[in-house]
Amino acid sequence: MNLRGEMVLRAGWLIHKDFRARASAFGAGGADKLERLNLLLRRARAALPEYDVACAAALEGAAGLSSPGQFSVLPVMRRENLAGYAGGSALARLASGGTAGGDRFETRLDLSAVAARYAALLSVLKAAGWKMGDRTAALHPVEYSYFANLPAMLAGGQFGKVFFEFFQQYVLYRLVHNRVNVYYGGSIFSEPGAALALAEEAAAREPVLLITRPDALMAVLKSLRGGAGPRFKKLKAVLTVGTLLGESVRREARERLGAEVFNMYASTELGYAALSCPHSEGWLHADGAGHIVEAGADGEILCTDLDNALAPLLRYGTGDLGETASRGCLCGRAGEMLRLNGRKGKYAETATGRLYEAGVIDRVFPSDLPFFQLVPGSVLLPAGAGEKEAAAVRELLGVKAADYGAAAPGSFKISSSGKFCYLP
Ligand SMILES: [Zn+2]
Repeated sequence: MNLRGEMVLRAGWLIHKDFRARASAFGAGGADKLERLNLLLRRARAALPEYDVACAAALEGAAGLSSPGQFSVLPVMRRENLAGYAGGSALARLASGGTAGGDRFETRLDLSAVAARYAALLSVLKAAGWKMGDRTAALHPVEYSYFANLPAMLAGGQFGKVFFEFFQQYVLYRLVHNRVNVYYGGSIFSEPGAALALAEEAAAREPVLLITRPDALMAVLKSLRGGAGPRFKKLKAVLTVGTLLGESVRREARERLGAEVFNMYASTELGYAALSCPHSEGWLHADGAGHIVEAGADGEILCTDLDNALAPLLRYGTGDLGETASRGCLCGRAGEMLRLNGRKGKYAETATGRLYEAGVIDRVFPSDLPFFQLVPGSVLLPAGAGEKEAAAVRELLGVKAADYGAAAPGSFKISSSGKFCYLP
């Protein structure tokens, strides 16, 4: 352990007694689960009257849980149930986009929850072979740039956020972690030249670790297929965060970048809930210390954040579809694991059934087709592509021209947070 790392662990321990255990390995630590659940439940019931009524019915009048197994009778929480959490003080207020349905949502965290998240992040970086101070490049959509958002934050009077984000990005990440941000625009998905420029800018930083969304990783990998692109000479690992990572993408990253890809299931609301390992083959290890991850009756992933005592999320409907299983992994760890398919309601009807985002990625990513998007009635394509590419997409996926007929060049839909997906 180097000096910078030891300093961070000591500072973290002052705030959160489980910090060192949590930071040591993903999912490690996290005792007293029933006690923590009951604390969260009390807080949630006190703040959310409707949730309280639903809990009273589910628990047949009891104030709390008598065993951890009873947890699964609790009602599912949805974003629209959480209005009672608005207002009040918090160390951090993190805004997230509308991907879980509905409006923008603010996650409020106290100091202990921020420390728990930071410990989990350190454990993730450690799993990826990163040591404190190793050079890291993080690819970010330009929508996330601190200075692009600064005027709006100041105009909105969000001075706490201005300070918190500056501290996180420029003091903690840049000076302590040695991380630099590389920003990109939505054009990397429609212009191969823009994706190649991003690859060059990232490679020029000579990172040991590359942090990116899976969609930007796909764009970078596609841009390198011609063979003329830059080489990532020192790269050991890629950490992907956010949308789905296809196994075909992981394989190509191994081949083309010489780096192992670690895929993290994380969101602003819930923190770092699950992480893949080099042997987990599409599955992710759930964070047993800070989260409970379940698949609901209709396959929706429900997630509980055991650390957020300020605005607790219990059995929160993520809008992601997948499955969970208690299984042994080839890496030697046993426990709850998670596999993701896509977003609820976002699928293409094919000759052989519904195809979700993960299925689309694995069918089309290995091909040389440009990025595209399927929306009812058409195939959205980059400028310059047309009917020929649309027909190839339909054939590869087995979707009907009656459902996705017309090619629509130059009409990509990039989300407000800069995300690309095949099924927007
Ligand atoms: Zn494993």
